[in-house]
Amino acid sequence: MTFPTRRSPVRLIALIGLAFSLAFARPSLPQARQPQLPNPGSTMLTRQQQQQIGFQAAAEIYKQMPILPDSSPETQYVRQIGQRLVATIPAANSWPFQFHVVAQKEINAFALPGGEMFINVGTITAASNEAELAGVMAHEMAHVYMQHSAKQMQKAQLTQGLAGLAGAILGDRAGALGSLGQAGIKIGAGMVMLKYSRGDEAQADDVGAIILYRARYNPQAMADFFQKLEAQGSTGPQFLSDHPNPGNREAAIQKEIRSWPAVNYSTGNAAFNEARQQALTVKTYTANEIAQGAKTGQWNALNKRNGAVLTPPPGLAISPASQAGGSAAGRVPWNDVAPSSSFAFTDLGLIKMVRPGNWPVTAPQQQGQSLIIAPRAAVVAGGVGYGVVLNAVTPRDKSMTIDQVTDAIVRNLQSGGNLQPVGKAAAITVAGAHGRSVYLESTSPIPDANGQPQKERDRLVTIPRQDGTVIFIVFVAPEHDYNRLSPTFERMLKSMQF
Ligand SMILES: [Zn+2]
Repeated sequence: MTFPTRRSPVRLIALIGLAFSLAFARPSLPQARQPQLPNPGSTMLTRQQQQQIGFQAAAEIYKQMPILPDSSPETQYVRQIGQRLVATIPAANSWPFQFHVVAQKEINAFALPGGEMFINVGTITAASNEAELAGVMAHEMAHVYMQHSAKQMQKAQLTQGLAGLAGAILGDRAGALGSLGQAGIKIGAGMVMLKYSRGDEAQADDVGAIILYRARYNPQAMADFFQKLEAQGSTGPQFLSDHPNPGNREAAIQKEIRSWPAVNYSTGNAAFNEARQQALTVKTYTANEIAQGAKTGQWNALNKRNGAVLTPPPGLAISPASQAGGSAAGRVPWNDVAPSSSFAFTDLGLIKMVRPGNWPVTAPQQQGQSLIIAPRAAVVAGGVGYGVVLNAVTPRDKSMTIDQVTDAIVRNLQSGGNLQPVGKAAAITVAGAHGRSVYLESTSPIPDANGQPQKERDRLVTIPRQDGTVIFIVFVAPEHDYNRLSPTFERMLKSMQF
């Protein structure tokens, strides 16, 4: 299989924009009155990163589940519905959605960040009409649109990954701190299919209803289908546990649509009945059979035989690392991380300092987590590839010297992975305090320009405070680029004050 060569992000966005603006140029409801989709918000993962993570997980699913080929009538039918729904989403916030049908008996559907969506045959046959099937798809599409998985991954990463650096009392809990390079979570198919929260569910219902309405499907059908699932209980347990009922689904949707102008909803029932009849003839497998077959490679072989292959969406650059099933991170061009010449003064509470204007601050979401100052493109699934990570520890033993505390932090960082100190800790004065500086070497979470793993250079600086707390700061860059960033790091360090 050949993959498109890497394109610049600007070009990529332009291509996606064109594709979707064409799709969007169809007769629509009067602008002033029809419900508008909400702002999807932002995450630390770029669009390209979300697509890469989603595509990598989709490739894994093609190895572990029986998928119908794109040419199958079921897939063709589901795609038609999908395209009609996608056409309601303004280009700027849309995704290159792709639709796949799984030969599974149970009712289920799921969507990955970036827009790969999987619908079980069992979902098609369980629906009473096209609007119900469209309802499930619009709900999944809403999760992608709102970037729920990316937002959850970001939270999980901060909690499990860099967060591990924090809160541990030194001299205890060996291994509680992960190395910077290894600290992040490993992204696999399971990771990107996290269970949604009830808040996410309520939002996916809201947004899904708007998508349905704009596509002229009755949003009520989405609630009907969920209610049917709850009533059946046993056939859609996975779906219900992944998508917990936010409560009063039916009432919430009714309330939402009440103020919208009346329109004639389409039924699409002739096409639906034909597709459903056809779907009833497809050989399907139970979740247990699918799990068994995944172990023996049965589905991978079957999919290849049937011509069910996953192709990347237009414009998606696939990094060799993700093709090889390694890191989800792609190469990061220098221009995406280069610090701007303008610096911003930032008050971080414990410390004040300057930072490059284009390196945003990500505050810890929980006590004990690290604070990150980094260009967005450098925050990847495996950790932070370029930037600055800050945290503080309180030594349990007040008599520990700054050398002992620094050693303990290094040992803790080492316990999580392949990080090694380079040389000895040197004295340094920061904000009038006498701290230590030591260089470390590890593996960057970002591959080099050839997609190969590359070395990372980290500089750990420890600064004792009057109250016994020790602030520690790690400056991070691939070894190859460290010297280019050194003046920026130096400027940040010199600007620090309590
Ligand atoms: Zn959901």
